[in-house]
Amino acid sequence: MTVLDRVPTPAYVIFEEKLEANLRILLELQRSAGIKILLAQKCFSMFRFYPLIEKYLSGTASSGLNEALLAAEYFHGENHVYSPAFRADEIERIAEICDHVVFNSFNQLEKFFYSVWHCSIGLRINPEHSTQTHAIYDPCSPTSRLGVRLKEFAAAPRGLLDLIDGLHIHTLCEQNSDALDETVEALEKKFGAWLGRMKWLNLGGGHHITRADYDIDRLRRIIDRLKNKYDVEIYLEPGEAIALNAGVLVSTVLEVQPPIDGVSNVIIDASAACHMPDVIEMPYRPSIVGAAPRGAKAFDYRLGGATCLAGDVIGEYSFDRPLAEGDRLVFEDMAIYTMVKNNTFNGMNLPAIVAVDSRNNFEIVRAFEYNDFKNRLS
Ligand SMILES: *Cc1c(COP(=O)(O)O)cnc(C)c1O
Repeated sequence: MTVLDRVPTPAYVIFEEKLEANLRILLELQRSAGIKILLAQKCFSMFRFYPLIEKYLSGTASSGLNEALLAAEYFHGENHVYSPAFRADEIERIAEICDHVVFNSFNQLEKFFYSVWHCSIGLRINPEHSTQTHAIYDPCSPTSRLGVRLKEFAAAPRGLLDLIDGLHIHTLCEQNSDALDETVEALEKKFGAWLGRMKWLNLGGGHHITRADYDIDRLRRIIDRLKNKYDVEIYLEPGEAIALNAGVLVSTVLEVQPPIDGVSNVIIDASAACHMPDVIEMPYRPSIVGAAPRGAKAFDYRLGGATCLAGDVIGEYSFDRPLAEGDRLVFEDMAIYTMVKNNTFNGMNLPAIVAVDSRNNFEIVRAFEYNDFKNRLS
């Protein structure tokens, strides 16, 4: 029996070896390109692995106070924070634990720079260059609230600009370095005049660096050129690239219904709505070990969660053998944007969190029960 036959279900099972393989690629890039790479915690915050991750990366990127606190507690490295709007009642604490604070507007900069005077201050800008079609993941859409546009930047008082050490962009999502290339071209065209005055430039996340077809050489060329031309320190803050394909979600078949037009609905103990929300939000159809798209293999099924939401459907798949109650299904690439986004809608239990070490021993790091559901409700 493998680990995946033995863990309780549902469970996110994270493999240390796969995580470390990604981290090795990122460390090599940091060294060869002379840059710093941060873990975007909003994607993957399984702090059980922070002692491992901090051996490879330079720090973390947080979306606000809570993530920054988590990094301060468990990750020894630089602590960067960016939020579309910081709160007055949190900024002092943020200033105590973070070394880099990135504001989203001149208004926020003006309001809070005095609280964060000892931090390195950055401003998120919007190069207004979209490279993707997932509207909800496009910070460069015409109505975006994320980042300062050139028009406003160019009109800002000199005194405010002088407070800024760095510029921050984040416009990509699961993309290759060709998308970064055109983004940087737009960035330079619009903001090139100011880049040379900065100490650092943060190119955000969305770089799918650890994906097999990612062109790292091209990324290195872009970085080399930026460093030479503007003499700035370069940061990347990927989330997905760090834990890409490092974990799975293991689930058990609870019921196989009679077929409707040749396809049976199968109910499993994992839910798209609760445990893999990007399946519905993005949307996409996750891969299952041993399965293929509907029609490719002999037996077709539509998989859904045990919730009341009609749309809690993970997708249609085909298998070589008929599915039966008690069968296990293994959803691939479930370390990222899962634990950090899940919820207990319908009172569904959260999946257990399991770590598998390099000798294939597993540890149930966390298991959830009634009190975890209850304690968020009143
Ligand atoms: C989401 C986000 C990231 C990480 O993005 P990935 O797609 O997970 O690499 C980094 N920086 C900012 C500002 C983000 O919003």
